[in-house]
Amino acid sequence: MAKKNKQFVEKVTAMEDDFAQWYTDVVKQADLVDYGPVRGSMIIRPEGYAIWENIRDILDAKIKETGHENMYFPLFIPESMLQKEKDHIEGFAPEVAWVTHGGDEALQERLVVRPTSEVLFAEHYAKIIHSYRDLPKLYNQWSNVVRWEKTTRPFLRSLEFLWQEGHTCHATEEDAAKETRQMLDVYASVFEDYMAIPVLKGKKTEKEKFAGASYTLTIESLMHDGKALQAGTSHHLGTGFAEAFDIRFSNEAGELQPVHQTSWGFTTRSIGAMIMVHGDNCGLVVPPKIAAKQVMIVPVAQHKEGVLDKAYQLKEQLGSIARVDIDASDKMPGWKFNEYEMKGVPIRLEIGPKDIEKGQAVLVRRDTGEKLFTPIDELETAIPELLEDIQRSLFEKAMKHREEKTSVATTMEEFKNSLEQNPGFIKAMWCGDQQCEDQIKEETTATSRCIPFEQEKVADTCVCCQKQAKELVYWAKAY
Ligand code: AMP
Ligand code: ZN
Repeated sequence: MAKKNKQFVEKVTAMEDDFAQWYTDVVKQADLVDYGPVRGSMIIRPEGYAIWENIRDILDAKIKETGHENMYFPLFIPESMLQKEKDHIEGFAPEVAWVTHGGDEALQERLVVRPTSEVLFAEHYAKIIHSYRDLPKLYNQWSNVVRWEKTTRPFLRSLEFLWQEGHTCHATEEDAAKETRQMLDVYASVFEDYMAIPVLKGKKTEKEKFAGASYTLTIESLMHDGKALQAGTSHHLGTGFAEAFDIRFSNEAGELQPVHQTSWGFTTRSIGAMIMVHGDNCGLVVPPKIAAKQVMIVPVAQHKEGVLDKAYQLKEQLGSIARVDIDASDKMPGWKFNEYEMKGVPIRLEIGPKDIEKGQAVLVRRDTGEKLFTPIDELETAIPELLEDIQRSLFEKAMKHREEKTSVATTMEEFKNSLEQNPGFIKAMWCGDQQCEDQIKEETTATSRCIPFEQEKVADTCVCCQKQAKELVYWAKAY
């Protein structure tokens, strides 16, 4: 049996040896995905999809609480429609998938498989918005989109991904700005309060903003290997699409005005972030709030009289306080321990003949491996407390990791040394000139992640050109 256990664990490359391989191994071993038939596409397996459903339900509730309504748009976009907003098409053209034929016949006009739906919403808004009384319009859709990415990785960057895209119209620039920020805060809350992943909030530079936006707000997270990940974005679209698509309303004075728009997206990439932030060499570590199963009961010596009965009784009893499951299959307990460690179930509950004699169960934390011998009649209070504690300590651990991996640089030499010695976020001043941003990327491959809302002055001059600095920027190598 010992040999069998070992084999199971050995399939995961150690993260210290090869982080990318570790990630791929875990995604596969934890049975979250299988590869799709087309390069870069993925089949999301039940264990992975259940996590997505939990995240989706949490976010969907918040989207509705903030006054948005869900609707659904079609998958195809006529080429001419995508052409209407110049920056937008320029940004997306290299990544779109084209449909050229319907059956045997070549189409009169090529169709794009949506990479995002700004233009579809815009065309629709032009039809339904006439007066200030029609505003704001706060719509969202849950869908799949396709982006023909060159390098792909399950969840983090896939050819097709699942997401929600919010699209809103407002009467004023300020209302749209408030909305842009509000939805960024919603995303940040999902990441921090549910997925236990700390995020930096800020604005993207002009170079990194969304194609067609006046500005882009972002939340940035740091993975275990010190690389950053853009976790979600919220765009202030200004009036660009409104001008291109003629989305106008008459204001109270009867004057015709373009609407001010926003759009914001949150994707299955979030699952990739969860894996890369919390996972370890035994596999996934899923934060309790989004875990499909929070407690897995593993009977020990289950052939002995009374063990299975007790295990099922506990499942029944605890089912109303947590998401509890039981594995009563005939696999060896050690094999099951490994399996649910790999799958990241927050708590394992072991119950065997000796435990029953003592009136206790063994709770094992996935995050620390700690064993807690708990009287059976205290489980109903102990388990929710333990789940909360796991949730909290995962966040704290990730925050500590981010802090340890955040350095300050005032010169390019310091910048490069930090990247080398302690890869992570680098806080450095910037003059605001894109040339410096380009040069930093060229010399170090690190990109600007965000101009944080919480500004600090770590130097007077730009880290790159040493001219007068304008603002603090977080830089990092990124996924
Ligand atoms: P965008 O519409 O370009 O602002 O994208 C919205 C969000 O989608 C980004 O902030 C990323 O977190 C995520 N994202 C972008 N490309 C991909 C991809 N290929 N796979 C998964 N998520 C993605
Ligand atoms: Zn500069």
